[in-house]
Amino acid sequence: MVRVISVDAHRETVTGLLGNAPVIRLPLASAAGLVLAEDVLAGVSLPPFDNSAMDGYAVRAADVASADEAPVTLPVADDIPAGRVDIGELEPGTAHRIMTGAPLPPGADAVVMVEHTDGGVTDVRILRTAVPGAHIRRLGEDVVEGTVALSAGTVLGPAQLGLAAAVGLADVPVRRPLKVLVVSTGTELVDAPNPLRHGQIYESNSIMLASAIRALGCEAEVVRSVVDDVAEFRAVIEPRLADVDLLVTSGGVSAGAYEVVKDALTGQGVEFRKVAMQPGGPQGCGRWNGVPVVTLPGNPVSVLVSFEAFLRPALLAALGHAGVDRRQVRARLTESMTSPAGRRQFRRGFYTHSEGEVTGIVGPRGGPGSHLLAAFTQANCLIVLPEDVDSVDQGDEVDVLLL
Ligand code: AMP
Ligand code: MG
Repeated sequence: MVRVISVDAHRETVTGLLGNAPVIRLPLASAAGLVLAEDVLAGVSLPPFDNSAMDGYAVRAADVASADEAPVTLPVADDIPAGRVDIGELEPGTAHRIMTGAPLPPGADAVVMVEHTDGGVTDVRILRTAVPGAHIRRLGEDVVEGTVALSAGTVLGPAQLGLAAAVGLADVPVRRPLKVLVVSTGTELVDAPNPLRHGQIYESNSIMLASAIRALGCEAEVVRSVVDDVAEFRAVIEPRLADVDLLVTSGGVSAGAYEVVKDALTGQGVEFRKVAMQPGGPQGCGRWNGVPVVTLPGNPVSVLVSFEAFLRPALLAALGHAGVDRRQVRARLTESMTSPAGRRQFRRGFYTHSEGEVTGIVGPRGGPGSHLLAAFTQANCLIVLPEDVDSVDQGDEVDVLLL
């Protein structure tokens, strides 16, 4: 007898199987979307020195205090473009022309923006007064050297990577993207653009899985179309295990004959079970030669729903993400639906929420059939009908997972 287990129990098993990815340092350019594994400290303050926030003139505020009543003319004693590193003192009664981001000369306590001057290069007419501190960006105003710039668990998006670069990091400690081997099984599968013969279909699971895996920040290698032959499956896949962190298969795990994955991996450390869900009931997981294995059924919709239910949360957790769940909302159904008793049903749906409404509305896209991939492309959510529900009416509130 095949064991029947709950969706939650299988999800927990798969998450435990994957565990935490090891920590490595990656160059910033390779770390986008990954999760910081340790706090990183600022090697420098930001800004690293007092500098000008404007193109203009560095002055002593006292020297231009009367400029609102009558323009003040000062000799321009120096010119400071951004990047100058040999900065001299600003003598009283003089101005230094200064550009945005250039270091403020010692002695200056304000910047007059160029728009409030005549823009002169030997002498400058200052037309407005400036309060002390005007248009100066202070050392350490943004980040103080030695403090935590980014804390462990931070997802490295553009702003976070920018800050890491700004405080002087070339690489960051992250959880390493897992390398996943994606294998489609089925003698009927053909790779486009080869022509189909009657009885054959184009292989579509591997691109779905690989793209879904890559979208999380992991790496995916693909073996398309292994035929339903145990010896062949072992011969093709076993040698490739050494290079990967996870094997994900599709097809060949149900109750029929010619179930190549089940036949090849039963007794090898992989357990096959029935999960109380629709679609996606037949599932398996375990280790083969020590490498984690997750085996999915073959129907394309089952593959994507299984990815959502098990692999997505497990991979996100392995990468160190704190939030691994899709956002869940309640919505009113636009039509009645039935669901098999004792199984959690995931239906593809389209959710909308108009402004001012308390709950949104959701309608199914396609029927429950796990081969209806076209309907999935019209969906933006999964409607979840719990195990203890066998029918829901139009207008009922249901749980919706937003994709
Ligand atoms: P299986 O789980 O191997 O019995 O496959 C279930 C259904 O999914 C069958 O109709 C298969 O032809 C189909 N199927 C399995 N693998 C793929 C694949 N990689 N691409 C498209 N359809 C598939
Ligand atoms: Mg098959």
